[in-house]
Amino acid sequence: MANPKKSALIVVDMQEDFCEPNGALAVKDGRGVVNYINELMSYPGLTLKIATQDFHPHDHISFASQHPGTEAFKSEHTIRNPENEGETQTTLLWPDHCVRGTKGVELIPELHINKVTHIVHKGLDTRVEAYSAFGPPFRNPRISMSELDTILKDAGITDVFVVGLAYDFCVKCTAVDAVEHGYRTFLIEDGTKGVFQSGEAVDGLRKELREKGVVVVGAESEELMALKG
Ligand SMILES: [Zn+2]
Repeated sequence: MANPKKSALIVVDMQEDFCEPNGALAVKDGRGVVNYINELMSYPGLTLKIATQDFHPHDHISFASQHPGTEAFKSEHTIRNPENEGETQTTLLWPDHCVRGTKGVELIPELHINKVTHIVHKGLDTRVEAYSAFGPPFRNPRISMSELDTILKDAGITDVFVVGLAYDFCVKCTAVDAVEHGYRTFLIEDGTKGVFQSGEAVDGLRKELREKGVVVVGAESEELMALKG
């Protein structure tokens, strides 16, 4: 007999630093998706509701402040796997954000935290970037992975729905990694906003996600209606 379908919602990084008006890396209209996310969290078809939190040390490698002469949002930096210097990731640098112990790291108070079943921290290792809630992008070997996959596997989750901030970085990478980890993966566009929001940027994202096996859906999709019951 086939395994029964079991679904989890992953709410990525709904934190003060990613939201207006005070966030260091505020995503335009990012705070506005929280009402829809709260509605989703009340759907009876969801077994787990997991909130993630970008949770950096003060000297994290992704901060432009750690690399003299660079500029946040513009400069790229190549990060090496600390256990295999031949494996690299080249990505943008950011303003200091989501530093442990600061206001910016907190989940926004509008999020219905009482409905959340687990909180997963990411980006704890100062040496590597971790957009995905599963862990850094390195594979040979993997390092500093979060407990997310264990939480999902222990609960028998088959289907994962991803929302939160930001669409083009942590939400995208979490969804792509969920496919790699063997989950049927849906990204709900009504529950996310990107750092770069032009129509061209969003078209490119959708194409990349589909090529990588993520199903991009809207609020009225049949998959979500089934969860709503
Ligand atoms: Zn970060």
